[in-house]
Amino acid sequence: MDRNDNRTMTDDSNGERPATNPFGSLKIDFGGANGSSPTAPGALGAAVSPPFGGIRLIDAEPSEAVAVPGGPTHGMDSGGRTYGKVLIIGSGPAGLTAAIYAARANLEPIVLAGSAPGGQLMLTSDVENYPGFPQGIDGPDMMTRFREQAERFGSRIVDVDVDRVDLSERPFRAWARGIEYRGESVIVATGASALWLDLESEQRLRGRGVSACATCDGFFFKGREIAVVGGGDSAMEEANYLTKYASKVHLLHRRDAFRASKIMIDRTYDNPKIDVHTNTAVEEVLGDANVEGLRLLDTESGDRRDMPIEGLFIAIGHRPNTDVFKDWLDVDEKGYLVPHRHTESRIPGVFISGDVVDHRYRQAVTAAGDGARAAIDAERWLESEGIAEASTATAW
Ligand SMILES: Cc1cc2nc3c(=O)[nH]c(=O)nc-3n(C[C@H](O)[C@H](O)[C@H](O)COP(=O)(O)OP(=O)(O)OC[C@H]3O[C@@H](n4cnc5c(N)ncnc54)[C@H](O)[C@@H]3O)c2cc1C
Repeated sequence: MDRNDNRTMTDDSNGERPATNPFGSLKIDFGGANGSSPTAPGALGAAVSPPFGGIRLIDAEPSEAVAVPGGPTHGMDSGGRTYGKVLIIGSGPAGLTAAIYAARANLEPIVLAGSAPGGQLMLTSDVENYPGFPQGIDGPDMMTRFREQAERFGSRIVDVDVDRVDLSERPFRAWARGIEYRGESVIVATGASALWLDLESEQRLRGRGVSACATCDGFFFKGREIAVVGGGDSAMEEANYLTKYASKVHLLHRRDAFRASKIMIDRTYDNPKIDVHTNTAVEEVLGDANVEGLRLLDTESGDRRDMPIEGLFIAIGHRPNTDVFKDWLDVDEKGYLVPHRHTESRIPGVFISGDVVDHRYRQAVTAAGDGARAAIDAERWLESEGIAEASTATAW
């Protein structure tokens, strides 16, 4: 297929799918750590959703916003309920699924959606592996549906980043833009942000041949020559995985030694479809509308050369969005939250779900499943504490 005909990265063998450029229609772009990069708050709809959405509340506390001394008096939140039986932090698949379950269980969830509302799927225009969408679905469209479903049952969603929490006692408290929110339980679903090279050309071509998710996007590169950047186990895994689709995978690493385990290094060198290039840094991603090649720097000799490729996978790691929680909850050596039993954290009443916990699967469907588990666990815990009424979450 001619990459210039705007039908790239689709399944060439599947005539049924609309022949669109799966990465070519990004509506919103964000990334980087902890939602701190450019985002479009409120891009999924109104910045502040109508509170309650017609759902009857049980035991709702007064809804005045409590300003933090010295903090800004008003952020994205133009007023409304600041207390719920569940505070959900994050609005990717995990957070919004937790909100759907919690709202249907009358737990009056407040979702503090972050400055990247919708989460990582806002970065991709074609999700083909989420069940229920046989033709695939645009990532932002999918997250709009998640959000509408959460709002339909009365979730209050506010597009703000939480910058501080106090999990020492109930109600738990979280602050965002100077407003204090309180919840009898908390579900943390703040995800993880892929790390990027931070090249202008890489950012411009994200979703147009540049990706950070081989499992998600490898399929679009059937029969194409591509490159993977990184030197750890993830990069090796992704390079090997991508040989299922690509005709050739170039593994690029800026140093002469890899951080990856010996077994992964051996597997990579043994794979006839992978060419390994050490001492090789990407200086620029070439191409206007789509990736057409890379300008590479030999980090030893200083020589430059161009490599024609059609896809670039960045596999230099993820950064879990846990800064706000790491003084309260257990984190592992990479900064991910550590679950105790099921979705429980070390603090009773605080639950954790999605990519902020899971660095193995990192998929929308697993994150959504995790969000459902966390909401059901929260509901059962609230019941056991005498805060919530009889179970409704599992009584579908
Ligand atoms: C380019 C790309 C393409 C992908 N394609 C696919 C695909 O096709 N299929 C698939 O299954 N998976 C795909 N994934 C992976 C999938 O997007 C993730 O596994 C999934 O989004 C994780 O969901 P989550 O809810 O745990 O976290 P995220 O989606 O990361 O959402 C985290 C949320 O937390 C919020 N947040 C962060 N910090 C704070 C804070 N301090 N306060 C408040 N909120 C905060 C953010 O605003 C965001 O809303 C892709 C990922 C990328 C990067």
